[in-house]
Amino acid sequence: MKELFLPPELSCEIREIYASMVTAYDEVADALAMSCQGCPDNCCDSYFLHYTYSEWAYLWEGIRGLDDARLDRIIQRAHEYVDQSRRLIVRGERPQLMCPLNEDGRCGLYSHRLMICRTHGVPATLTRPDGRHQRFPGCFRCQELVKVSPDGESGAPAMDRTIVYKRLAQLEARFLGDRRGVFPRIKQTIAEMIVNGPPRDIKSARD
Ligand code: SF4
Ligand code: SF4
Repeated sequence: MKELFLPPELSCEIREIYASMVTAYDEVADALAMSCQGCPDNCCDSYFLHYTYSEWAYLWEGIRGLDDARLDRIIQRAHEYVDQSRRLIVRGERPQLMCPLNEDGRCGLYSHRLMICRTHGVPATLTRPDGRHQRFPGCFRCQELVKVSPDGESGAPAMDRTIVYKRLAQLEARFLGDRRGVFPRIKQTIAEMIVNGPPRDIKSARD
């Protein structure tokens, strides 16, 4: 099966979308004086699922740049993660396991981390395609800061995820092109994205 590579212009664009997320995140974090520095938690053990082929392909752009020894360690940790998470899910528990890309408490593939890694933490809002408005309170540390802030919860700054989600959805549509309906929907952890290897072209799977 042929591997799906992001064309250079889409790779450049996803980098730009990711950079805009970081800017929007930092603006809210600065306004709340919120930082992960010294936090007793590490959100890299959160059970996050990812839904786009373009983010999967971009993650693999980064993975391909790793040296063999590091890649071997990451793949081994990813297999352990997948095995353990499946066992926990069967028992009805939500997995809380460290992401296989995390090394010594820090992201080992920082420039290729996924959207949720760049948006999780600060309060956020989202206007869904059906017009419904959602508000996310942010991580526990942020919620504590918001509670004591003079503007309170309703007046607290929030990162608007609407535009970045829309841009990522448009990029995904361009990446998969007019055959996008043929690709199965995905819902994977980062560990599964590693264990499963890079995304593959459906058409060539039938060849
Ligand atoms: S996002 Fe929040 S909970 Fe997570 S590490 Fe940062 S400050 Fe701590
Ligand atoms: S990709 Fe990096 S930032 Fe995201 S969960 Fe894994 S280690 Fe953490």
